[in-house]
Amino acid sequence: MVERTYRCSNCLDNTVSRGFDVSHLSVTCGDCGEFARFVNDDVFEQYRAFEEAPPDHLEWDRLDRAEKFMISDQVVREGRSIEDFEITEA
Ligand SMILES: [Zn+2]
Repeated sequence: MVERTYRCSNCLDNTVSRGFDVSHLSVTCGDCGEFARFVNDDVFEQYRAFEEAPPDHLEWDRLDRAEKFMISDQVVREGRSIEDFEITEA
């Protein structure tokens, strides 16, 4: 059984481990107290990589965190290419 780590998407500090592999969980964070989405740490690593080196063709900084996690999730877990994503003007 492989333990997966999930990270609080609100404070980005707290992690929990679970014995199953999903893209995210919703639990109350023991650190910040939010009922928050905890994202798979693989997804979080991809998010961090994009934060450090934003994709050229996206206006990454204009996305909110939930959108960034959604894109990271699809890249990591569904094998989509970052090139597949385009940000349309809201
Ligand atoms: Zn938290």
